[in-house]
Amino acid sequence: MGRCLQCGDVVHQITKTHTGSLLTVSLLCDTGHTTVWNSQQHPEGNVMLCAAVLFAGATYSRFHQICQFIGLQVPSQRTFFRIQENFLYPAVHRAWLTEKDRTQEELQTDKDVCLIGDARCDSPGYSAKYSTYILMHSPSNKIVDFEVVQVSEVPVHSLCIIWPIPLHGGKDLRKRLVLTTQN
Ligand SMILES: [Zn+2]
Repeated sequence: MGRCLQCGDVVHQITKTHTGSLLTVSLLCDTGHTTVWNSQQHPEGNVMLCAAVLFAGATYSRFHQICQFIGLQVPSQRTFFRIQENFLYPAVHRAWLTEKDRTQEELQTDKDVCLIGDARCDSPGYSAKYSTYILMHSPSNKIVDFEVVQVSEVPVHSLCIIWPIPLHGGKDLRKRLVLTTQN
């Protein structure tokens, strides 16, 4: 970067700026040409980076710590959460609704369906007030539906049979068997 890419003259000023993980280098030569170089072709690399952290189940603090060790510039924590809130969560929600409708449509055509229920409370060490209760289709391991419920509402039976099973969208699965673990 010591020479101008346009005329070959000596570069006397190099300016580096970061936009999250995007590095922009501006070169100013003695003739007056300004050349701008970006480390990424598109600035959405920051969104992709935040998506990768979220979908890998990692935390921002651990991700940031790793990047600090190797001197890699990344979006700030504030930007990370804003990208999650504005882009990633809505995208995940839309994908989930599409997948849920597709799965429930598939189950409508099956005569007998085996669903397995399980609940997951919040992290160990905290008072578990809420729990995510999940219904999963046994052979395919597809999530049919889930609800965030208070812990006191979670069934305590190790086995129960529900007939029919009301699902979101007014759909009913008739003649169905549900197995659920004790929670
Ligand atoms: Zn030049």
